[in-house]
Amino acid sequence: MIEFCNVWKRYGDKTAVRDLSLRIDNGTTCVLIGPSGCGKSTTLRMINRLHEPDDGYIWVDDVALRDYNPARLRLRVGYVIQSVGLLPHLKVWQNIALVPRLLGWDTKRRRARAAELLELVELDPSEQADKYPRQLSGGEAQRVGVARALAADPPYLLMDEPFGAVDPRTRAMLQRSFRDIQKRLKKTVVLVTHDLDEAIYLGDTIAIMNAGALRQHGSAAEILAEPADEFVRDFVGSDRMLRMLRTVDLPKLTGERRSATASDRRRAERGEGALFAHGATLKDAMASLLAAPGERVDIVFADGTVAGLDFAAIRGLITA
Ligand code: ADP
Repeated sequence: MIEFCNVWKRYGDKTAVRDLSLRIDNGTTCVLIGPSGCGKSTTLRMINRLHEPDDGYIWVDDVALRDYNPARLRLRVGYVIQSVGLLPHLKVWQNIALVPRLLGWDTKRRRARAAELLELVELDPSEQADKYPRQLSGGEAQRVGVARALAADPPYLLMDEPFGAVDPRTRAMLQRSFRDIQKRLKKTVVLVTHDLDEAIYLGDTIAIMNAGALRQHGSAAEILAEPADEFVRDFVGSDRMLRMLRTVDLPKLTGERRSATASDRRRAERGEGALFAHGATLKDAMASLLAAPGERVDIVFADGTVAGLDFAAIRGLITA
C-alpha cells in the first residue's frame, strides 16, 4: 500500500502539491491525471524520493518513506518514464538486466530473466535481445522500458506518461498489453497521464488533481457518474456517458449466452457484426455495432459462448 497523508511540496513560493491525502491499495493501478502543471509528476517522484515532501508523510509498506532504506526502495519500486532512458551502448537484454546485475546475478540467469520479461511484454527474445536501443521502434523501446522496470519483480511500479511518445495505434496496443500484464502480475501501480481515455482504460482508480490539490479519487465509473465538483465535471467533459463505455469489460458481462459456432468465430475475426470479448470493452462493442449492418453485435467469449448486444442493452449496462 502507498499512502500520502497531508503531503505538501513547494518550489520557492510555488506550491506544487498541497495537502495531498491519497491511498493506493496493493494490487491496484491508480492513475494521476489533471491539467499540465497540476503536480502529477511531483507526486509520483515523491514516491521514489526523487523529490522530498516539505510536510506530511508518505507510507510505503506501512513504513514511513523517510525511514525507508534507499537501496531497498530502489528494488521495491520500478520506474518507467516516457523517454524510456535505455542505455545506448548496452544491448536490449543488458538494459533489462541492469538491476539484476547490481544484485550480482550471473550472466546466464540475467539473460534468462531478460528473455522471460521480453516474452511478457510481447517481444520475441530471439529477435530483440541482442539489438541495441537505436534499432528499436518507439513502441518496442517502451515495452523494453516496462520490462526493465519489472526486472527485479518490484511490487510497486511508477509510470510517468509511459505511452506518451508513440503514435495512437501503438499506444492502444501498449495500453492493451499493459492491462493484460497487470491482470496477471497485480503490481501496485501509480501512472501519470494527461489522457482521460487512458486513465479510464487503465486505472482501477483515478485521482484527478488541479493546482496541486486532489479533487476526486475513485473508480472511473464513480467519477464519470458523479463528478465531485465543477472542476471535475468540466474535466471529464460532457461526453462522459460515452467515456463510460470504456469502463465496462466485455469478459465480465453476465446474462444469457448460447454456444459459439465456427461462423461466430469467423465473423468475430473479420469484425462482421461480432467481436471477441478478450481485452475488449463496451466501447469496442459500440463501435462494432455502429459499423455493423445489423441491429446487434455478437460477443464471443473465451469459454466458447456468445451473447448478443444491441443499443438498448448497452444503454442499460452504463446507466445501471
Ligand atoms: P505535472 O506533472 O502535473 O505537469 P509537475 O508536478 O511537473 O506537474 O509540476 C507542478 C508544479 O511545480 C508546476 O507549476 C511546475 O512548474 C512546478 N515545478 C515542478 N518541478 C519544479 C522544480 N524542480 N523547480 C521549480 N518548480 C517546479
